[in-house]
Amino acid sequence: MKTEVLKADAAGIARAAEVLRAGGLVAFPTETVYGLGGVATRDEAVERIFTAKGRPSRNPLIAHVGAPEVARRIAVFDERAERLVARFWPGPLTIVLPRRPGSGLSPRVSAGLPTVAVRMPAHPVALALLRAVDEPVAAPSANRSGRTSPTTAEHVLADLAGRIELVLDAGPCEVGVESTVVDLSEPDRALLLRPGGLPRAEIEAVIGPLEGRRPGEPVRSPGLVGRHYAPSKPVRLDVREVAPDEGLLAFGEDVPPGAKVTLNLSPAGDLAEAARSPFAMLRELDRADVRAIAVVPIPGEGLGEAIRDRLRRAAMEAPADA
Ligand code: AMP
Ligand code: MG
Repeated sequence: MKTEVLKADAAGIARAAEVLRAGGLVAFPTETVYGLGGVATRDEAVERIFTAKGRPSRNPLIAHVGAPEVARRIAVFDERAERLVARFWPGPLTIVLPRRPGSGLSPRVSAGLPTVAVRMPAHPVALALLRAVDEPVAAPSANRSGRTSPTTAEHVLADLAGRIELVLDAGPCEVGVESTVVDLSEPDRALLLRPGGLPRAEIEAVIGPLEGRRPGEPVRSPGLVGRHYAPSKPVRLDVREVAPDEGLLAFGEDVPPGAKVTLNLSPAGDLAEAARSPFAMLRELDRADVRAIAVVPIPGEGLGEAIRDRLRRAAMEAPADA
């Protein structure tokens, strides 16, 4: 299959909507990362997403919507979910809720779970496309499973050229890390399943404290544990001294000297700026003539929680589970 690349103008978006409605796969920009979309009510389209990514079928997908009503057709909202939606949608927040029976959603989207993850992205191209399709669109990150998430159309093509119908190109993504995933599927608990583009503190200010997984409790979301975002080279974290054959991922003005190649996530020490490029910079250091990748300590507050999570998982040795 030849993968078409179109500029994300009105004609490109109209063509992308047509491809999706016909059951095809389209990679499109969101404010977080590029997503690989297929209509979420069509089993064959959803099945093809798993195949194109090489994603294990037990790792569920996020259903993207162009309006909250579309999410309410497939998920059962409670009052907490409504408050979050009113405050943060469109935006980088995914909410896991009970599936609505009879909604027509492909069961594969949920990978057999009784829940579904929903999000309304803030990117104008994503919104225009989702509204044109007027169906929920399942859209995991548009990378091969286990690899770094794509923040440009070139990253998408590097992983998926020949495996999908179309890429809509709207340049680099604004946020750069994936959405924050909050699980509200049980009435008395709110869990943070994945830190992401919306800082935890902003969510807690609206619905109170977010819990983590309890000790011994099974993992709810197989894609959220284990090695992921993985470059082919070893990654070392919280480094203060660098070896001469290493590539350095720096942050702020305090840059350890001596690396063969140095890239800085944000020379000014700004976490929102830093969140835009960890994936692109990991890809670049992976291609550079260095033996390993060293990363300086990144502060854990605000968007730093998501950046640290992605880097920690890029550094893990266990094989990808997602
Ligand atoms: P991706 O779209 O590739 O960034 O991954 C989306 C993440 O959301 C995956 O890690 C999934 O495991 C998680 N997810 C999607 N649906 C659900 C669900 N119903 N319950 C829990 N986690 C989910
Ligand atoms: Mg992903």
